[in-house]
Amino acid sequence: MHVLVVGAGIAGLTAALRADALGHDVELLVKGHLGDGCTVRAQGGIAGEYGPGDSPALHALDTMHAGNGHGDPVAIAALVDGAAAAIDALVDAGVRFDRAADGSIARGLEAAHSLPRIAHAGGDATGKAISDALIARLRSSTVQVSEGVFAADLLVEEGRVCGIRTLDGTEHRADAVVLATGGAGRLFPHTTNPPETTGDGIAMALRAGAAVADLEFMQFHPTVLAVGAPFLISEAVRGAGAVLRDADGRRFMLVEHPDAELAPRDVVARAVARRADEQGSPVLLDATSLGAADLARRFPTIDAELRRRGIEWAQTPVPITPAAHYLMGGVVTDIDGRTSLPGLWAVGETARSGVHGANRLASNSLLEGVVFGARVADALASSAFVSLELLGSGPKCSNLRDMNAEGGFSRDALQRVMWEQVGLRRTDAGLASAVATLDSWRAPQPRTPQPRTPQPRTPAEQEDANLLIVAHAMASAALARTDSLGAHFRVAAPVPALIGAP
Ligand SMILES: Cc1cc2nc3c(=O)[nH]c(=O)nc-3n(C[C@H](O)[C@H](O)[C@H](O)COP(=O)(O)OP(=O)(O)OC[C@H]3O[C@@H](n4cnc5c(N)ncnc54)[C@H](O)[C@@H]3O)c2cc1C
Repeated sequence: MHVLVVGAGIAGLTAALRADALGHDVELLVKGHLGDGCTVRAQGGIAGEYGPGDSPALHALDTMHAGNGHGDPVAIAALVDGAAAAIDALVDAGVRFDRAADGSIARGLEAAHSLPRIAHAGGDATGKAISDALIARLRSSTVQVSEGVFAADLLVEEGRVCGIRTLDGTEHRADAVVLATGGAGRLFPHTTNPPETTGDGIAMALRAGAAVADLEFMQFHPTVLAVGAPFLISEAVRGAGAVLRDADGRRFMLVEHPDAELAPRDVVARAVARRADEQGSPVLLDATSLGAADLARRFPTIDAELRRRGIEWAQTPVPITPAAHYLMGGVVTDIDGRTSLPGLWAVGETARSGVHGANRLASNSLLEGVVFGARVADALASSAFVSLELLGSGPKCSNLRDMNAEGGFSRDALQRVMWEQVGLRRTDAGLASAVATLDSWRAPQPRTPQPRTPQPRTPAEQEDANLLIVAHAMASAALARTDSLGAHFRVAAPVPALIGAP
């Protein structure tokens, strides 16, 4: 069958290569170029290298716990049960994971993992090692690759997805479309995600009427360099012993959570933001106890980038801030990547497979890309599809199909609304105001239905339109979820002051 994969991160590459190996006729479209997206930037590693005392069951428990019990146990079981085969497949593809003295794959520790089980390559260059290996494999496959091709919309005929339309208006027809377009970090001004991460796949799915859920769960990474362009300082650095200090040099995380700096990401991110607000300056990440040689050996990418910026982190603690990092929600899928629309599949950060719940466990997303990328390819030939009722969960976003960017807004303004009102700490009033503002940027609905003729747009205009749709869906989902859960944190409404009180 003819399979169209959109996106060439770990999820799209894995799905395309496996589908090719299974004999499908595979076309792969990339908005930018091979090696763009988040995958290549992943520093920490890939979870699932189990040592003595560890097991898929323990990993599943940690994953469910980090996701605040909101994860889907069946999807989590599929993730951890597929871990060993996924890491073997990457080794087969040529990824050279770092090794311990006895020759086994070295295991690192990250926040909220009970045991060290993170495989890494080139120290903190795991994503690049994986991306390079898969792209090398792609070049010797029969997958037809088109770079610089922007997928703009899904083609839907009689309720079935039958291809995509690219920004230049070309129709690419296919028996199956696999969305692997990554997340939506660019909804926020502070993010670890690269410019191409604009939620395109989720916006396309929303416009086509596919079920989307859990968009209120955006993970903010607590340790992103607070000076100059955002640059992630991996959790693995804290796993190796770095600590967080306030302006007085105190380790404030000791009183915030029993796991201190290795508490779940949302807990650390909120504590960092709160402490920074209180003291009026960024919190510091202190890695000085690790020493210059160890830092350079274990974290060569971070070490080189900080030195390039004139920061000697072996000698001085570095200022850090939280930043948008990973989207747990997305296009709802079953454990084989099927969406609620026949013919449409989704995988990787674009998908809401159910493994991350309300908060992702560190280093589970690369694993998800490999495990579910392969599962999608294996399931393509099956004609089964799942009903919307089975896939739909969480707050639904309606009336989004005609939303576009012609209402007049700037990306800066959108990002400001998202940071201030749909960010780390959310209030009822802030969320309601965000939804109202985002609504006001929608194009007016025509009085009589107009035939849907695609408007020519530049890539930036199309990305803005996509960001607006996803921003609206995220703010609406956050407004609808009135409790706090995982990465979604609702500040209790302030108690009104008593009239006449001093
Ligand atoms: C700095 C950083 C560090 C991280 N570290 C880790 C880590 O250590 N471990 C871990 O597990 N996870 C980590 N993550 C998260 C992880 O990297 C991502 O979740 C994962 O790589 C997502 O893979 P993906 O294939 O879904 O998407 P991506 O790798 O983001 O790829 C998306 C692809 O879709 C393409 N695309 C997008 N829109 C369109 C369009 N309209 N038309 C055509 N193509 C399109 C892009 O060009 C790109 O090729 C990190 C993320 C960042 C940003």
